Parts: sequence; C-alpha cells; structure tokens
Amino acid sequence: MSLNLVMLGPPGAGKGTQGERIARERGIPRIATGDILREAVQEETELGRLAKAAMDAGALVDDDVMIGIVGDRLGAGDAEHGFVLDGFPRTVRQAQALDAMMEGRGPLVVIKMSVPHEVLVQRLAGRLTCVRCGTIFSTATIGDRRECERCGGRLVQRSDDDEAVVRHRLEVYLRETKPLVQYYERRATYFRLDGHQPPDQVAADLRKLVDLVPSSRPRPSGVTS
Ligand code: AMP
Repeated sequence: MSLNLVMLGPPGAGKGTQGERIARERGIPRIATGDILREAVQEETELGRLAKAAMDAGALVDDDVMIGIVGDRLGAGDAEHGFVLDGFPRTVRQAQALDAMMEGRGPLVVIKMSVPHEVLVQRLAGRLTCVRCGTIFSTATIGDRRECERCGGRLVQRSDDDEAVVRHRLEVYLRETKPLVQYYERRATYFRLDGHQPPDQVAADLRKLVDLVPSSRPRPSGVTS
C-alpha cells in the first residue's frame, strides 16, 4: 500500500500546507521542487545557478533539469512507500516523465486545488516563511510579528511573493499548467479539491478523496505489506 500523490494548483492554493500535513500523517516525504531549487540557490550549487534567473522572473526552470531532480529524489529510500509531490509536474512533458517513473509503483493520485484568483494574490503577497524551519505564516493571522512561533526563526517574504511577480507567476501557472489538467482529468484517480475553505476542512476533504483510491488508504496498524 502506498500513496503516490501529486498536488496541483496555483501558487498560494495551499498545496504546501496540505501536502505537508498528509505527508506527515502517512509517513511519506513531501517533495517540493520549489524548496529544492531555493535550497540550491542558497547553497550556490550548479543547479542553483541554473535555476536562479528563471525563479527570480517567476518563469519555469528547464524540464530536463526538473525531471532529473525528481527522478533522483523518488529513487531515495524514504519515498519507497509513496510521496507527496508539490510543484511538480508543471508541464505535460514533466507529467509524462512522472508516469514513466510510476511503473510498478501503483496509481498516481492527482489532486487539483482551486482558489479564486484575487484570494491567491492576497494570500501570496501576505505570505511569510521562517528562514530556519520553513513554516509558512500569513500576515492576515500573525499581524506584525516577524518571529516564528515554532522555532523562533526570522520570518521573511519570499522574493517571488512580491505582488507584481505573484501576478506573473499566476499567469505562468494558467498558461503552462492548464494543459496538465487536460492531461489528467479523465483519470479515475484525478480529483478536484476546494482550497477556499478553513484549512481543517480542506485537510478532511483531501483525506476523503485520497481514500477513494483503495491502494492509497493507510495500512491498518500491525499489518505489513
Ligand atoms: P514554487 O515554490 O513551487 O512556487 O516554485 C518556485 C519557482 O521554482 C517557480 O516559480 C519556478 O521558477 C521553479 N519551479 C519549481 N518547480 C518547478 C517545476 N516543476 N518546473 C519548472 N520550474 C519549477
């Protein structure tokens, strides 16, 4: 039994928050390609150098680079019983490559989260991330506080969460990623999820959808596959 989950949806839809939550519940890794790239940029690796210009402009990083990163990551031991992918695939080529990686791994569950456009702009422009532990906060709930309540780290705005870049990222999302929905939507394991609800409700809906796919249900405790 494993859960191979892809979270689709525009930036700010809550893929990170919800993906993290279900990954923790199921004991599988959440693999966020944006996080992997930001780390590479910070560490000034070859990948970081390659990705930085595209990321700063809110554009997409090269397909082959992304497919290589995800292929390597899914091969790691902790992803043996599944994964939650956030930020990948973003193009049909990436989706085709992911299907090829899924051979022998069970079905891919694809969840498309949707949130109204203007709500996304507001959410992203008010989004703060802890530099130490990566937890995401919203200025709508924490006001002027700039210290992480989990670890005390400093809270900063991502450079690409600036409003003008946010609007551009949403346009890129619509243009490049809509074909992905067409690619997946006729599958029995493709579901839509309303992301414009309280986070606990979104989490409950997500669990229900994932459990509609028999092989993705959690194993009863004490039973091993
Ligand atoms: P995210 O954190 O998912 O919003 O990603 C931040 C940025 O990283 C994006 O705006 C892209 O520049 C880049 N990126 C992340 N994932 C991908 C991907 N699968 N394909 C291409 N570019 C990506």
